[in-house]
Amino acid sequence: MIGDKSDPKRVLVAGGAGFIGSHLVDRLLANGGEVVVLDNLLTGREENLAHLQGVRGLSFVKADIVDELPRKLARGRFDQVYNLACAASPPRYQADPEHTMLTNVLGTRNLLRLAEAHRARFLLFSTSEVYGDPEMHPQREDYRGAVSCTGPRACYDEGKRAAETLTFDFARAGRVDARVVRIFNTYGPRMDPDDGRVVSNVICQALAGEPITIYGDGSQTRSFCYVDDLVDGLLALMAHDGEQPGPVNLGNPNELTVRDLVDRVVALTGTRSPVTYRPLPQDDPRRRRPDISLAQQLLGWEPKVGLQQGLEATTAYFAEELRRQPPRSGEPALAAAE
Ligand code: UDP
Repeated sequence: MIGDKSDPKRVLVAGGAGFIGSHLVDRLLANGGEVVVLDNLLTGREENLAHLQGVRGLSFVKADIVDELPRKLARGRFDQVYNLACAASPPRYQADPEHTMLTNVLGTRNLLRLAEAHRARFLLFSTSEVYGDPEMHPQREDYRGAVSCTGPRACYDEGKRAAETLTFDFARAGRVDARVVRIFNTYGPRMDPDDGRVVSNVICQALAGEPITIYGDGSQTRSFCYVDDLVDGLLALMAHDGEQPGPVNLGNPNELTVRDLVDRVVALTGTRSPVTYRPLPQDDPRRRRPDISLAQQLLGWEPKVGLQQGLEATTAYFAEELRRQPPRSGEPALAAAE
């Protein structure tokens, strides 16, 4: 019997200082959990947890999951281990592709072994990127994907595929009670304005009056899920007992083109920013939309926050950030993808 999952006492969140991780930490603490955040702060940011300063039950360990894990993590017992630790934005994960690959392979192995030693339930954050540039639309979990193993996205896509493989091998061998979630483009407050993702770029560019960058002709599609909805799904999957469900897609099936997204943000902000077109990055998927029937059946989960509501909340967050830290004049507000 691997741990009692109904009353989690101690939870390890690797990548807990990141955008999604910090929202997960908020919810775990609100539910009465004791949370240890493990983060190397490569793309995670301490300010994402600043509002939790002094909150009982939270502690922070700065370390890289690629390295041998700090001995202090062996103390006590974790009931649950979440592995969100990896740069997720294409410019960021491509900046050090070797490290991205190792984070997913060695880092996941290290955390699986920790979960095994603690008899903790393990949840791996995988990604819609495992479907590559998909021929099946929308993407179901049994679709095996069309991924380039040599292109610039491979360090992340193939890294996550290998992380899934390791996780299911540990599960098959009865070493760890594991869950795997494949998440689709998530957005919301605490996205890093310099991350290079389309939602953060476009909103920040619109607010700063900078040119809005569309890569390619903007006809490629994505389906954007608000972070609160995603966290609901994560908690439900972690709590789900019974048969190993295999990988589970979590995302919002509301698909739109990048051009449509830009139009929505322009209308919302009333910006006069011009739109500029940049080359489409190599291997950029043409379309992406989750089939969430499995999550609906298994967890009774589906997203509740509509795009308009989510974009309003995200825009309000970035507007506040911009007021606190206006970009220095002469500098672009945001990192370009190239
Ligand atoms: N994109 C864009 N302008 C930007 C940043 C991204 O048009 O300033 C495009 C990008 O090429 C991709 C889509 O928006 O087609 C989503 O990109 P993002 O990096 O947010 O996520 P991912 O490619 O991982 O889905």
